[in-house]
Amino acid sequence: LVDARAGNQETLDVIDRALRPKRLADYEGQPKARETMQVFIDAARGRAEALDHVLLFGPPGLGKTTLAQIIANEMGVGIKVTSGPVLERAGDLAALLTNLQPHDVLFIDEIHRLSPVVEEVLYPAMEDYQLDIMIGEGPAARSIKLDLPPFTLVGATTRAGLLTSPLRDRFGITARLEFYNVADLTHIVSRSARILNLAIEPEGATEVARRARGTPRIANRLLRRVRDFAQVRANGVITQPVAQDALAMLEVDERGFDHQDRRMLQALVEKFDGGPVGVDSLAAALGEERGTIEDVIEPYLIQQGYIMRTPRGRCATRQTYTLFGLPQPQQSAT
Ligand code: ADP
Repeated sequence: LVDARAGNQETLDVIDRALRPKRLADYEGQPKARETMQVFIDAARGRAEALDHVLLFGPPGLGKTTLAQIIANEMGVGIKVTSGPVLERAGDLAALLTNLQPHDVLFIDEIHRLSPVVEEVLYPAMEDYQLDIMIGEGPAARSIKLDLPPFTLVGATTRAGLLTSPLRDRFGITARLEFYNVADLTHIVSRSARILNLAIEPEGATEVARRARGTPRIANRLLRRVRDFAQVRANGVITQPVAQDALAMLEVDERGFDHQDRRMLQALVEKFDGGPVGVDSLAAALGEERGTIEDVIEPYLIQQGYIMRTPRGRCATRQTYTLFGLPQPQQSAT
């Protein structure tokens, strides 16, 4: 099987860019976020103003970066892309801000990971388009103030609750991205197949969509793996059986759960008697970061009804026991 990951990051990036929709009209699903953005973009354009600052939140791979780029495209402005952990010093942010053209978009991914000093610089910049920064140290230190062009900050984070409240309060527009349904993901897979020139039957596209954990990034990744399989084993045409065989080989089950998902559910049921168990104990048992569990693994399992979050910790549900063919516990886990 051809593995595109083998030293071919550049090709992958090119494919990623090609698959990213550029206009709001091509952005599948997310009816609420799309409608919100359409209204505010139309209004800002009508007044020839910069769009208000936008906070996007939701699990990885749901389209936050894509939406930020679409916002810039639809506004007809430029975009600068950075992320919370990259902006180490106040000067890093100042350099970006002073290079913006009027109405440009500044996209900060993982905005919850900004350091406090950088966040301080962001407040007056967001509020009054003012840069207020200290330069130098000790007795020679002085503060300088600069006017910035009006700009739009688009911040992305996995959970809105991770932001400090002064930062969260400075966003005028907030949009929460949800997991995609199978119909929307089927459109995304079919569109990607068209762009990549793949032969895929509608049932093949649906099969990939159904197993993509509600996530476009995963749908596109599975499509590439299935393409490799179809090429080597099935004359290149992605039919439903070909997709099923390829995904079984990748250990993605009919629900879209992968090895990591099943490990987590299994630990919950077998090591912790179905819970309630704290996320830190789960993380330790699995050898995963707490953040990976909270941001990547559990949101989809919760949405699908396989994990419940309670004040005392995570609990398995009836479905979880059924999944492993285990008898339901006597006392309900709730
Ligand atoms: P995030 O920033 O939330 O982690 P991205 O914006 O990088 O997610 O999205 C991952 C990939 O999924 C993109 O490259 C794009 O191809 C695809 N994608 C995301 N959202 C959509 C959408 N609404 N419609 C079509 N494709 C999408």
